[in-house]
Amino acid sequence: MKECLFCKIVRKEIKSDIVYENEHVVAFKDISPVSPFHLLLVPKKHISSIMEIDSLKDSEVKEIMKAIKTVAEENGLDKKGFRVVINMGPYGGQIVDHLHFHIMGKRKFEWPPG
Ligand code: 5GP
Ligand code: ZN
Repeated sequence: MKECLFCKIVRKEIKSDIVYENEHVVAFKDISPVSPFHLLLVPKKHISSIMEIDSLKDSEVKEIMKAIKTVAEENGLDKKGFRVVINMGPYGGQIVDHLHFHIMGKRKFEWPPG
C-alpha cells in the first residue's frame, strides 16, 4: 500500500470532499482553493507525475481527459470556461507526488500565470 496522500484519499483512508468518482479517477475539493471552484482530479492508479504517463494505458489517459470534461459539464464550467493545471517538479510547484489535475473555475484567470 502506497504511503501517498492522494492514494490514501483514493482509498478513503483520509477524508476529502469527493465531487466525482468513477472506475479510473477521483475528483475532490482542494483543501486550500485558489478559486471559487477548485478540484483535484487524480487517477486511482498511482503515478508520481506527468513524466510517468507511459505507465498508464492510452485508454486510461483518455478516461482522465473525459472525466475532466464531465466534471466541467456537471458543474457548469463549460459555459464561461475554466482552467486545468498540471504542476510538475519544483519549478512547476508540484507538492504532492501523485499525478493530479487542478480543475479551477468560477472566476477569470490571468495569462501568463505567476
Ligand atoms: P500541487 O502543488 O502538488 O500541484 O498541488 C497539491 C494540492 O493539494 C494543493 O493545491 C493543496 O492545497 C492540495 N492538498 C494538499 N494536501 C491536501 C489534503 O490533505 N486534502 C486536499 N483535499 N487537498 C490537499
Ligand atoms: Zn499516490
